[in-house]
Amino acid sequence: MAEKVLIIGSGPAAWTAAIYAARANLEPLVYEGAITEDNQMNGTLPLGQLALTTEVENYPGFPAGNLEGYLDDSLHKSIRQFMAPHQKEGVSGPELMELMRQQAKNFGTRVVTDDIVDVDFGGRPFKVRARGGDQVEAHSVIVATGARANYLGLDSEEKYKNRGVSACAVCDGALPRFRNKPLVVVGGGDSAVEEADYLSKFATTVYMVHRRDQLRASKIMADRAMENKKIELVWNNTVDEVLGNDADGVTGVRLQSTVDDSKQELEASGMFLAIGHTPNTAFLEGKLEMTPKRYIRWTVPFRTNTSVEGVFAAGDVADDYYRQAVTAAGTGCMAALDAERWLAGQGI
Ligand SMILES: Cc1cc2nc3c(=O)[nH]c(=O)nc-3n(C[C@H](O)[C@H](O)[C@H](O)COP(=O)(O)OP(=O)(O)OC[C@H]3O[C@@H](n4cnc5c(N)ncnc54)[C@H](O)[C@@H]3O)c2cc1C
Repeated sequence: MAEKVLIIGSGPAAWTAAIYAARANLEPLVYEGAITEDNQMNGTLPLGQLALTTEVENYPGFPAGNLEGYLDDSLHKSIRQFMAPHQKEGVSGPELMELMRQQAKNFGTRVVTDDIVDVDFGGRPFKVRARGGDQVEAHSVIVATGARANYLGLDSEEKYKNRGVSACAVCDGALPRFRNKPLVVVGGGDSAVEEADYLSKFATTVYMVHRRDQLRASKIMADRAMENKKIELVWNNTVDEVLGNDADGVTGVRLQSTVDDSKQELEASGMFLAIGHTPNTAFLEGKLEMTPKRYIRWTVPFRTNTSVEGVFAAGDVADDYYRQAVTAAGTGCMAALDAERWLAGQGI
């Protein structure tokens, strides 16, 4: 029997879609991704990007306060016992994601821990294949496979992730460790300027490190960087190593010139990567219409429809602009409602 709704992914978009679909009696089946070394390396393990971070201060509904008792109460013991102890006020990324997953399961969502590796959207019901060999048929599909931030690939960068290395200024910029300190932004496009501009509200100086001698950003954005007195452009350099120690996390970066052999060090309490994201859409190549950056294209304004009728997309996999947990959750809700209405129209 074909599933009514199959949801692929496990970030805020997928779990929100599952909560809505389950409460509408659509009995959703979620493929949440596999626990593999490749997914670990790529940052695409189940529970999505938010599970890679510590504090989440901007998801509504979690003001400062001790969640310990609530976590013990709301999460199944089998999950809770393997989670890091709740240490901070408010909610952490992994806690928030476990809570969303639990909420979806409480309403009857079935969850399979595997990747979808192939889809056939050529006829209905749709067919998908999982890494482990499962073949599933579904009348509607919600793709919520997210995106992953690009990093430089340095060991030192990996070591200081969440301890000064970040790929999201809007998410992390306001945290105390970044306030009134010099910061580094790596990149030279529009989003790098946006990140630097945003961080300049908190930092003493923002060094924008770019490997060329001019920004790739549009003129209006480049002018914004030049005019911002707190932004200092560091041309023709790449980050060679992130400097730091166990007590303080990031303390600076070592730069390598791209035009000669010289190196220099910059003192900074954080390094923000702004060198793009990679949407998790490789398995959808040729199956759905995509943007030039390989994000799924939403084909109807203010809807989550894709180029294939009955297939909907939610979250960062279709959104290279907002990229926030709450916006991903919002479009997850939209996708479930869109799928529900589409199924009703089909008499399913
Ligand atoms: C370090 C960091 C910190 C952040 N901090 C914040 C913050 O404080 N506040 C905020 O609002 N946002 C934050 N963000 C952004 C936020 O995490 C994302 O916007 C949000 O997680 C996007 O959700 P999503 O549902 O689209 O998918 P994602 O969170 O990207 O998750 C998608 C998941 O789907 C699964 N998947 C992928 N491919 C497949 C497949 N083929 N089959 C099955 N499953 C698959 C994978 O497990 C993947 O991780 C942060 C991001 C990062 C990287």
